[in-house]
Amino acid sequence: MSDCLFCKIAAGEIPSTCVYEDELVYAFKDIDPQAPVHFLVIPKAHIPSAAAITPENSAVVAHAFEVIARLAKEQGLEGFRVVSNCGEQAGQSVFHLHFHVLSGRDMTWPPG
Ligand code: 5GP
Ligand code: ZN
Repeated sequence: MSDCLFCKIAAGEIPSTCVYEDELVYAFKDIDPQAPVHFLVIPKAHIPSAAAITPENSAVVAHAFEVIARLAKEQGLEGFRVVSNCGEQAGQSVFHLHFHVLSGRDMTWPPG
C-alpha cells in the first residue's frame, strides 16, 4: 500500500533499525520505546490490523510468532509481552498489522 508508513519501512524506503528480516516479515525497533526492549514485527504484505486476518493470510501471523519466539530466545528475554492494538479505541495508530514485543521491565495487568 503506497501511503502506508510500515509498508515503506518494510521496503526500506523509510529508515529503521532492523532486528530481523526474511521474505515474509520485518522486525525493527520501535521509535518510541515503552520498555528497555521494544521492537515491532510486521508482515511485509499489507494487512490493516488483526481484524483483517483471514484463512488466506493467516500463515504469516503464525510465522511472525515463530520469529518472535526465536528472537526472544536469542536475546535471552526472561519474560516478554506481545501486543497488537486493533482499532483506534484500542490504541492502534499505524494501520498495518504489527506485533509489539516488550521486555526488560515488570509489566502491569490489566493494561490501561
Ligand atoms: P500502535 O500505536 O499502532 O499500536 O503502534 C505503532 C507503533 O509504531 C508505536 O509504538 C510507534 O512508536 C511506532 N512508530 C510510529 N512511527 C514509527 C516510525 O517511523 N519508525 C518506527 N521505528 N516506529 C514507529
Ligand atoms: Zn502497509
